[in-house]
Amino acid sequence: DKKSDEKKSDEKKEEPAKEEVKKEEPKKEEPKKEEVKKEEPKKEESKKDDKPIEEKKKEETKQPENKKPMPRKLPGIGKVDGVRLPGQKWRVHDIRRPHPPVVTPGELSTYDKPGTPPSDAIVLFDGKDLSNWCHISPENPNDLLEAQWKVQDGYFEVTPGSGNLLTIDSFGSCQLHIEWQTPESARGDSQGRGNRGIFFMDAFEVQVLDSFKNRTYADGQAGAMYGQYPPMVNASREPGKWQVYDIVFEAPRFSLDDKLEKPAKLTLMHNGVFLHNAREYYGPTGGGGLQQYRPLSPAAPIRIQNHGNPVRFRNVWIRPLPP
Ligand code: MG
Repeated sequence: DKKSDEKKSDEKKEEPAKEEVKKEEPKKEEPKKEEVKKEEPKKEESKKDDKPIEEKKKEETKQPENKKPMPRKLPGIGKVDGVRLPGQKWRVHDIRRPHPPVVTPGELSTYDKPGTPPSDAIVLFDGKDLSNWCHISPENPNDLLEAQWKVQDGYFEVTPGSGNLLTIDSFGSCQLHIEWQTPESARGDSQGRGNRGIFFMDAFEVQVLDSFKNRTYADGQAGAMYGQYPPMVNASREPGKWQVYDIVFEAPRFSLDDKLEKPAKLTLMHNGVFLHNAREYYGPTGGGGLQQYRPLSPAAPIRIQNHGNPVRFRNVWIRPLPP
């Protein structure tokens, strides 16, 4: 039959085309093929006299299947021959690269219920007591006094006349999570409404203030690097609602002869919104002027500013970071 012959001839014509496609696909793996091929002659030499040509051909056709159980990498886990990363001792997807420690994340807060810290955090306030905080004696700065601020219903709040609150431990570069709430019945205006401040290393302030429809100077509103930079946006919630600061503070670095090598930097999220992205402090904050950097120890207490305005805090935890 001519038709069937034509079909056969068509099939024959198609076959080589298929082979070409097959050859093109694994182009990336060509070097591997060559390596395998180099090994093949050894096998053939030993078996040359034993097996007829047809069997040899079968073996050759089987060989691509035999390649699969001998991969040069462990799929999904990594590899050893990736591109070397500049400045690192590792390669891309390096199977030998150590994994970071596992941290169990905490639960998120709701308005009614504070969340929980991640498993590796240092808890500064868990709703129960202020045992990680203190006051400095007004008479002798070397005397630490027991924290006098009021603890109630899972939060703490300033007790007028008791002074600034400081962590007993010292911290340098760190990640700080702190939640705060200004009174629902907003009183006062400008800096007189819910004013507080969080000072890293007892020197670099992040402003806490009720900035919901409360006009004040821009570099003094909530989230400001006080007296230096306003926040990029005003992400304030209305008074009476809990607000969240997630902060990364980078401590300044000084040379052995006390010269500034790297200024302090602040990254701040307010209620999940970026206010500062690795912004540098000109120096310690405060007052009306601009202070120059002075040599600081690598770590110092975190201070919460004392003001007459009632502000509540809850769910405070910290994770020290490499300097
Ligand atoms: Mg302040």
